[in-house]
Amino acid sequence: MRIFGTLWTLLVFALAAASLSLAQAGAAPAIAITHVTVINPGTSSVTRNRTVILAGDHIDSVSDAAPSTVPKHARVINGTGLYLMPGLWDMHVHAAFGDWFPRGRDIILPLFIANGVTGVRDMGGDVPALATWRKQISAGAIIGPRIVFSGPMLDGYLPDGKLRFPSSVPVTTPASAVAAVDSLKAQGVDFIKVQSVVAHDAYLAAAKEARRQGLPIVGHVPDQVRLREVVAAGQKSVEHLMGIFESCSTEEDEFIQGKGSLKLLLGTQNPRTCDAMIHLLAQHQTWQVPTLTWQRGGTFLDQLDWQHQPLDTYIPAYWRDVTWRRFADSMMPDLRKDPPKLRAEYFTRNLEMVGAMHRAGVPFLAGTDTPPGIYVVPGFSLHDELANFVEAGFTPIEALQTATSNPARFLGIERSFGSVEAGKIADLVLLDSNPLEDIRNTKKINAVFAGGRYFDRAELDRMLRGVEAAARDQK
Ligand SMILES: [Zn+2]
Repeated sequence: MRIFGTLWTLLVFALAAASLSLAQAGAAPAIAITHVTVINPGTSSVTRNRTVILAGDHIDSVSDAAPSTVPKHARVINGTGLYLMPGLWDMHVHAAFGDWFPRGRDIILPLFIANGVTGVRDMGGDVPALATWRKQISAGAIIGPRIVFSGPMLDGYLPDGKLRFPSSVPVTTPASAVAAVDSLKAQGVDFIKVQSVVAHDAYLAAAKEARRQGLPIVGHVPDQVRLREVVAAGQKSVEHLMGIFESCSTEEDEFIQGKGSLKLLLGTQNPRTCDAMIHLLAQHQTWQVPTLTWQRGGTFLDQLDWQHQPLDTYIPAYWRDVTWRRFADSMMPDLRKDPPKLRAEYFTRNLEMVGAMHRAGVPFLAGTDTPPGIYVVPGFSLHDELANFVEAGFTPIEALQTATSNPARFLGIERSFGSVEAGKIADLVLLDSNPLEDIRNTKKINAVFAGGRYFDRAELDRMLRGVEAAARDQK
């Protein structure tokens, strides 16, 4: 596994070096945040009355020095009563998803920054767009988060001969799976994402080839594959809690043959089998990205009030009336098979499962599946996901870990990201209220620093107005 970390590190250092040279060219003045409370989720540490000096794109020092020691020309931000934490990562997004979300560059990318999301893991998208954005963001030409991406997802054809999603590459045989992995490697992707319809033998071939190519493999547990096989194949992250309830069921074979139902699933859970499976996940440190915000939304999709959505102002009519409506219509028949009460029970079990895995030492990442998830709005939804982790039994600081120190650890970039420490890249969020008292306080953003670039509240509000204008333009 170490080699994966090394590759990630090289990638991010290349990005960091590019932005460093830019910052030096522009000779950005130092910034001193004084009297601030620093929160480092990774070490569960909270230190009051710090002076944090930023120089160029990185954190120069974190100390208890008096403000009189700050560099002469530094811009001083009085951090009294404020809380400084690492920038957030959304570890499951689709920022460039075929033709589903037009104007993503002007809407999705700034919404992340405006919400303190300074890094994202793109879990299925178009390489040309994502590679271009990544370059433009690191050059300071456009505003957006750091992006690591899979490029197109490996998927199989549906019975109607079509692929379910855009940004997908069809794999039908082991040979085509190997060819797809090799082609993605040549296109410069950071990892391989698998979707649900990949056949059993093709999945195993893809996992083997990804390992040979030094690319992590992440994503779904394909319909024909068991969770324990995915763990054995070395898959690094599992999305949406896939496979766990099936593997806890005494009737797992039925589900693998595509004959299960939600009622059967919930009625056949075996606690002892389940404990063993959770233990296996902990032992292999198979990361879980439960995407609870979207799980909740999807579970109760038939109750969604399309007319009264407070964040509608950031959503183009096309996303809502075409993309999301079409996606909702495609899911509704399946959803309606199960009464709302059964679905509510399933969602409650999801929260309980996350809590049980967490207590057993299974590692977690915050991810939202924005924007394909209906009304899972970029940036805003990550804060909902943090609250979901608390609802599942995490302490607030453990919830913060899933979006700060854990992503850095997962990506092998802890040397530069994931904490507020001297020498790290200055991706930071300054909050008006203490998120450890109430996790919802992560929404009370005073300022965001992205690669040392300072966006105060007024600047963030301007950014949001820009998104509103872009959403109105894009019918
Ligand atoms: Zn997704």
